[in-house]
Amino acid sequence: MTVYAAPGTTGSIVEYRSRYDNFIGGEYVPPVKGDYFANVTPVTGRPFTEVARSTAEDVDRAVDAAEKAAPAWGRTSPAERALVLNRIADRVEASLEKLAVAETWENGKPVRETLAADLPLVVDHFRYFAGAIRAQEGRTSQIDDTTVAYHFNEPLGVVGQIIPWNFPLLMAAWKLAPALAAGNAVVLKPAEQTPASIHLLVELVADLLPAGVLNVVNGFGAEAGRPLAQHSRVRKVAFTGETTTGRLIMQYASENLIPVTLELGGKSPNIFFSDVAAERDAFYDKALEGFALFALNSGEVCTCPSRALVQADIYDAFLADAVERTRAIRTGNPLDTETMIGAQASNDQLEKILSYIDIGRQEGAKVLLGGERLEHEGDLAGGYYVAPTVFEGHNGMRIFQEEIFGPVVSVTRFDDYADAVAIANDTLYGLGAGVWSRSGTTAYRAGRDIQAGRVWVNNYHAYPAHAAFGGYKQSGIGRENHHMMLQHYQQTKNLLVSYSDNAL
Ligand code: NAD
Repeated sequence: MTVYAAPGTTGSIVEYRSRYDNFIGGEYVPPVKGDYFANVTPVTGRPFTEVARSTAEDVDRAVDAAEKAAPAWGRTSPAERALVLNRIADRVEASLEKLAVAETWENGKPVRETLAADLPLVVDHFRYFAGAIRAQEGRTSQIDDTTVAYHFNEPLGVVGQIIPWNFPLLMAAWKLAPALAAGNAVVLKPAEQTPASIHLLVELVADLLPAGVLNVVNGFGAEAGRPLAQHSRVRKVAFTGETTTGRLIMQYASENLIPVTLELGGKSPNIFFSDVAAERDAFYDKALEGFALFALNSGEVCTCPSRALVQADIYDAFLADAVERTRAIRTGNPLDTETMIGAQASNDQLEKILSYIDIGRQEGAKVLLGGERLEHEGDLAGGYYVAPTVFEGHNGMRIFQEEIFGPVVSVTRFDDYADAVAIANDTLYGLGAGVWSRSGTTAYRAGRDIQAGRVWVNNYHAYPAHAAFGGYKQSGIGRENHHMMLQHYQQTKNLLVSYSDNAL
């Protein structure tokens, strides 16, 4: 089917095939069992293509192909691999609008976000790792006058990567760019909700890579993800998704004692200290924008600032302004460039969010805004839309402790600095946090005291390729972005060499 460009864009269209097979060894291969599943767009709630429903046999084929390709790819020079990554970036950039529209169609997120953030970040990610691999150097240790230890960075071989549906192309880029830069061959399993965007990417860049270096196996977690994480010839698994699934991935990987990197859930605090409201100026407006970012990507972000903590002496006034700012968010067709909140990614996700809204009400939290499904007319009638929702309550409530993954923020007040940090850290998670203050000292101290891998100070939801990203506590293991990620895809070879002719 054909999806037409978003109003306000320059007019590119996306052509989908009626069916997508797996991509293995450089070609499209039907699933061994011959089964397919429907891919539904959340914009209208209707299917638009079908995708291979893979099993362990398909994963096995993909690992065979990757294993065959891995040695030669691993021996290419960093300069050669950097060239390939840069070419991938160029191709994505040249088709940026088409991919942005596709990502919106499949995930429901607003096209203004996919055009301005998701796709430009994908491009930059490939370029960053193209540079990072060329800049990487090994190390030597001088053991004594005639003995030297060389440390080389070697690829792992075949790596398995399992990604979620909330940023399909960006999560693929976060996984693929460092793995390919480091010289590994990849078997990637996209989320079952968003496989088509990944296939559009594959169609665009497949000819740039030797056959078998990039393989894509579609399907469900238990049927295709599990055999990938358990495969005896996979040397590492990288996973992004729910914390409960992350635990399973670790168990599977332990069967073969392979390393895992996990990017998992979050319940990120966004803290507004009272000096934010010292003046009604540009900084104050920026802080209100920071509050409203809980609705970015329809709230389907692992770092969603889903708990807002506001200091007691500014609480009433700040919250009144924050609710008004949230009310101004424009909802509707995500393909319209004016829309700020589009559809939730799937019917399951819609139901999960609505059930948490019920839970919040039952717990006695007060709904200050939203709190319902949004009904649209025409083509959008069957789509999955939720109104941005502001709850007021306390940190003991489930809506403050459990990941909702929707446009829902739970707000509470704190008295002083110690109270703010205690509430912020009272969570299983430790992925992201926001701190808003005009005082450098307060912001710095809070940034250091909050148990989270990423603390944004006086900003939120920025994801540059060269800033390390990852979780404390139950939000994950390892880091993504930043060149330190290369270490997760490499192993160290030590050559201990004697340059002496003397006997030992
Ligand atoms: P999910 O864990 O259900 O699925 C993620 C991926 O894992 C999918 O590809 C799925 O098919 C696969 N999977 C599911 N069960 C599996 C199993 N038993 N074995 C192997 N693979 C399996 O999560 P989701 O609902 O797709 O994604 C949303 C979650 O991801 C949220 O909880 C969010 O916080 C998290 N997330 C985290 C980050 C991060 O960087 N920390 C980024 C994005 C999303």
